[in-house]
Parts: sequence; structure tokens; C-alpha cells
Amino acid sequence: MAEMEPCPECGAPRYMTDEFLWLDSGVIVQRRDPKHRVVFIECENLDPLIAGIGDIIGRSIETIVIESRRRGARDYVLQFLPEGFAEQLHRDHSALEPVIASQLAATSLMGFGLASLVDLRYEEDEDDYVDIRVERPFSVPLWCGNIAGACEAVTGGEWKAEYRHISSELYELHAFRSEHPPQVRGKALRRDYVHRPGDLELKRCATCGGPAVLSRFRWQPARGLIGSAYTDRRVSFNGETGLQEVFVELEKELGETITRVVIEAQRRFIKSGFFTIEGLLSEADFRTQFAYRGLGNLSEFRMGATGLHMKLENPTLHLTVIGFAQALFELAFGRKSGVDWELTAGGDLLAEVTPQPLPTHSLG
Ligand SMILES: [Zn+2]
Repeated sequence: MAEMEPCPECGAPRYMTDEFLWLDSGVIVQRRDPKHRVVFIECENLDPLIAGIGDIIGRSIETIVIESRRRGARDYVLQFLPEGFAEQLHRDHSALEPVIASQLAATSLMGFGLASLVDLRYEEDEDDYVDIRVERPFSVPLWCGNIAGACEAVTGGEWKAEYRHISSELYELHAFRSEHPPQVRGKALRRDYVHRPGDLELKRCATCGGPAVLSRFRWQPARGLIGSAYTDRRVSFNGETGLQEVFVELEKELGETITRVVIEAQRRFIKSGFFTIEGLLSEADFRTQFAYRGLGNLSEFRMGATGLHMKLENPTLHLTVIGFAQALFELAFGRKSGVDWELTAGGDLLAEVTPQPLPTHSLG
């Protein structure tokens, strides 16, 4: 496939620079829909984060994750379908398989793992189903949400998805028609990105125009994998809505205390050895790191023994960013910390990490 062809200079598949735009605001958007924001982030921490939040609150949040992702995925896939597709499919059911094949091919370019169609039944009744196998899914519940949402976009109606663990890295996803309870109906709360020009200039590849840092990734589209040579971790592209929606939904269902829980789960996970401090500090500067991931414009960043201060313009997934900042400080200085943060009226994230006082030892 032409879109898999690597740029001769930086090695990034053509699809990356054809599909995504890295803006001067620290934001990545889709070229075909510049209001649609995406992020390019480490993904191996997603499922442990989801499990970690469940551990802290005492119940699994998997269903909330799948349902919120389903709504985000439905909106995302709808934009790829040609006008009048539903009618075309109604007249000719054979139009379905090529659409599924192209959707699955797109997921491997995004770094979601390698997906293949196993079986499907499409008779426009309640017994319809789609079975997909995914090798090394970037996240199991998010994949379930993706499949259910994609089925809703393509065939209409309401779908649900379940998974079965086949072997260590292989999962089978089963999507089927199922009516949603009223509380999980509704649309994704997509936030349209409104561009605020910034002063960020990422060094560009002279050949394809993508950010030069993309040369530090290992692109394996045929296996659905993207690896970062910076962090030695797997990364994937994700629509912002599909991730952010999960946190919005958690807050709606579980109240505001969930924000602290998400920060804490992320802090614990990052500290448990996900990144080494040597690896983090040896990367390109933090501003570039935030920008190539599409997490925003890190306009202020100071870290020393007395604490960490950051200001992030156009932030997204800010709770995980705050948990990351806290873990970074603790790893660098070997101290426990507290964190205060706010989202300003202008939409910037301000965070202050401060060390907790050292325990005093009595010499008596
Ligand atoms: Zn290039």
C-alpha cells in the first residue's frame, strides 16, 4: 500500500504526513478535518491505568471506557464513509467487507495492533455480528469500543462488543447488535479544536515535511506497531475525543474526586518503572516531547529540588499529564510530592508539584 511507504529521509510512513498536521500550538489535527484533534502517545499504560483506576475506586471502569469510546469511534468513522453509504449497503451487502478491510488497515497504521476479520453475519436483523482478531491490541477495552462504534457508524443501529483472550497477545472481539440502556445513549461530546497560533517550531523533515523527531520511531505498519526509540515504548495515534471522553464520563458517573484518582493512578504507574528517569531526561527537550505527542505547547517548565512548575497551552488529557509531571519530579529527586493544578479561563493548564517535607528522625 502506497500509504505504508516510508519517507526516504525520516522513515515515517507517508500516511502520517498525509493524514496529520503538527501545528505551532503543540496540537496535532487531521488534515481532512482540522477541527479534529489527535494525540500520538505511549499506549502500553492505557490498560494498566484503566485497571489502576478501578483498583483505587473498588470497581471496574471497563464498561464506562467501552461505552464512551464507542460513541467517540462512531463519530470518527462516520466522517470516512461516503455520502449515502447506508443506502448503498442496504441495496448491496457485499459493500460491507471492503469497508471493514479499509477500516482495519487504517488501525494498523495508527499503531493499534494487527486486526483481521474472522467472521461476519449481516442480514440487517438482530442476529448480525462481526468477529475480529487483534494481535497485540494497544488497549483491549478501547478496541471493543472502537469495533462497536465502527459497526454503528457503518450499519446503523446499536451495537455492543465483548472480548475473549485467546493467548498472551491475541484477542478475539465479538460485536453484535444490542440495544443500549438509556444512560449510555447519546453523542460523543467532541470538542472542536479552535486554532490558537503559538510559537512552537518543530524541526521538519526536508523531504516529507513531518516533524523530524518522527525519525526516532520504529514504524511497523504491517504488524500494527509503532515504537518510540526515545522511551523504548509502544505508541499509537488516537482521536482526542475517544480518550478524553472516557475521563469526562468517569467524572459524570463518579464525581469530581475521580480527577485525583486518575492523577494518582498515572503517577503510580509511571513511577513503577514505565519510564526510566535517565531515558526521560536524555530525550529531546520536554517542550518538543509534548509537541510531537500533540499534548500542547509547554510554554513554561522549571524543575529543581524545590519543585516542578509547568504551564501547558492547549492541553489535552490533562489529568494524565499532571500524574506524569508528578512522577517525573519524584523520579528525578527521589522525594514524595503533592500537586496543585488549575485549568485557567483561557484554557491553559498550570501545575505545581512540591516536595513533601522529609521525615524528621530523632537522634535521641
Ligand atoms: Zn520525512
